[in-house]
Amino acid sequence: MTVTPPGAGRPAAQSPELYWFQADLRLEDNPGLLHHAGGAALLCLYCLQDNPAWCNNRGMGLQRRRFLYESLAALDSQLASLGQTLLVIPGDPRSIIPLLVRKYDVGRVGTSYTAGFYEAQQRTFLQRSLPVPLLVHPGNSLFDEAQLPGGLDGLPGHFAPFRRVMEHQPVPVPLRLPVSLPPVPQGVYTSTLPTAEVRPAIAYPVRGGSASGQARLTSFLYGRRAVDTYKDTRNALQGEYSSSGLSPWLANGSLSVRAVAHQLMDYEQTICGNESTRWFYQELLWREYFHWRERVDRNRLFAATGIARKRYLRTFEPRAYARWCQGDTDFPLVNALMRQLLETGFMSNRGRQIVASCLVNELNIDWRYGAAFFEKHLVDFDLATNYGNWQYIAGVGCDPRGGRHFNLEKQAQLYDPDGLFTQSWGGHRPRQPEFITDAADWPIEEGETR
Ligand SMILES: Cc1cc2nc3c(=O)[nH]c(=O)nc-3n(C[C@H](O)[C@H](O)[C@H](O)COP(=O)(O)OP(=O)(O)OC[C@H]3O[C@@H](n4cnc5c(N)ncnc54)[C@H](O)[C@@H]3O)c2cc1C
Repeated sequence: MTVTPPGAGRPAAQSPELYWFQADLRLEDNPGLLHHAGGAALLCLYCLQDNPAWCNNRGMGLQRRRFLYESLAALDSQLASLGQTLLVIPGDPRSIIPLLVRKYDVGRVGTSYTAGFYEAQQRTFLQRSLPVPLLVHPGNSLFDEAQLPGGLDGLPGHFAPFRRVMEHQPVPVPLRLPVSLPPVPQGVYTSTLPTAEVRPAIAYPVRGGSASGQARLTSFLYGRRAVDTYKDTRNALQGEYSSSGLSPWLANGSLSVRAVAHQLMDYEQTICGNESTRWFYQELLWREYFHWRERVDRNRLFAATGIARKRYLRTFEPRAYARWCQGDTDFPLVNALMRQLLETGFMSNRGRQIVASCLVNELNIDWRYGAAFFEKHLVDFDLATNYGNWQYIAGVGCDPRGGRHFNLEKQAQLYDPDGLFTQSWGGHRPRQPEFITDAADWPIEEGETR
């Protein structure tokens, strides 16, 4: 599905090239960037776009935005060390790129595959309307498309058969860091990088950028050797090293997933390879599976009936949804988790499963409203993984068991037995009046319920 127009493989002599960064905010192992680094000049672009309105949500939460801005600033300083600069322009690439192509007489435009409905629309529009080729290079995946047995058409409908085949496939070696890049075309102004409105939350102090992602990987493997016990700790609701914590950098492409896999394999060969290290690799395979599924399922990822095209009877009750979003439900553990998400932009995998099951099964709300809220707030928002997991829990995705309904009380006993997590995030809310609206759905005035 990577599109390379015929005759577009070689740069037009002396024409500047334009590389449009999307979910690949790194220099290392970036095939698209390398491909366009041989011309006379290079324009590096990022189009700053807000989330469009969808399922009662719009824009990005403050922590997600902060992490993105830090990642852009880090990429810009990496580029600066090679005499380049990142042009960050707010707006739609469909307006920005044609203008730049004309203004700087660009000969070719390159980008990497990025999942999503709007992203696909933007690519198609540009491929049809630009006077020069737009080359779409592979995204941040473990394998090449050619390694999938049966190609995309043969992608299994469930994870298990995919894993059985792909866990034995070699992961291609990450590409080198470019040692030099062509200069910026003459006359390009430098853009001002956006600055975040918030600092990282104390409870989740991660910073954007490849260097901090790599530092986190090194300490997860070699520093703390936390990967050795990953299988036992990965379900914790909180804990600095209970899981790798790599998702935010993988999601916006500051870290190459191939680089992560190769460093893991080195670690397994030289320090320790056990059930836990393999389990960690299996999680990377889950990510991989959802990424290839997105290529196949496309817009079905956003349909209530999911990729399974199952009848899905849910409703939308605004108050129940608002309470879920704010961490104000009748379930203290869910409240604590949602408050954690709002404050930090992060939630553990177990936590995500619990709150998703609550939205779908206890509150009977259409799963897409939950997915949209996650999309707004998660610092590690990754379209294929998020929508794939939500469908899985709602029973309309790639789960052969047909959905997950968690017993919330049991989950609290298992994962927060002493209630400390719930308490620390203020999950217990004051008792609410039984009715807050009358029969005609009008809010009942204070005191009327007594
Ligand atoms: C409803 C729901 C929504 C989710 N939304 C996202 C999302 O937007 N972005 C995102 O990166 N992950 C998402 N996940 C998957 C998972 O919760 C996170 O990847 C994980 O919690 C991130 O923490 P970590 O990096 O410490 O993961 P680790 O446990 O250390 O796993 C290592 C890596 O494997 C991948 N991975 C782990 N669990 C999963 C999984 N269940 N599915 C696919 N890949 C996985 C991630 O890339 C992760 O960084 C979602 C899960 C659920 C249940």
